Amino acid sequence: MSARDKLRGFFEANVGRIIDTHQLREVAGVSEYARRIRELRDQEGMQILTHKDRHDLKPGQYILTSMDRAPKLSSAISPQLRANILERNGYTCQQCGAGPGDRDPYNPKRKTRLHIDHILPLSQGGSDSPENLRVLCSSCNQVRSNIQAPSESALNMLARIRKAPKSVQKEVYAALKKTFEQS
Ligand SMILES: [Zn+2]
Repeated sequence: MSARDKLRGFFEANVGRIIDTHQLREVAGVSEYARRIRELRDQEGMQILTHKDRHDLKPGQYILTSMDRAPKLSSAISPQLRANILERNGYTCQQCGAGPGDRDPYNPKRKTRLHIDHILPLSQGGSDSPENLRVLCSSCNQVRSNIQAPSESALNMLARIRKAPKSVQKEVYAALKKTFEQS
């Protein structure tokens, strides 16, 4: 049984009762029990409060107020799932069309990084299922970009082109450039 499992069990057996640091250290058998408690709170939604949340608690005291779970605040998307979503969306931001390594439209000194975004946020009950996930660049992920979004078909086209080898991408670029320079 992991330290986290032991702590979960102990809190659930003492719902509504104040628990202190000594008890937790004994139960968990590890000194970093504070981090495990944070995981129970942030990843499992357990409603464990401290003196920061409630003034009648002293530092080092904890209380599980209810067996109900709050919506999850952080997710654990596996590297495999992340790779699947990137592949599915063709390494292309689904809002502004940027690809990895493109210049960041908000900060030209930086390069675009891609993130996995929850379409319906976890805090509103969204899940980690593939249908609720999409690729966004760091800018769109943070600021909800006001950049003119490419059309749906342009996004799909970009996604397909970015899956091709760099040499093919260059050929497409050169061909399009030729076409549009003439007009
Ligand atoms: Zn973007």
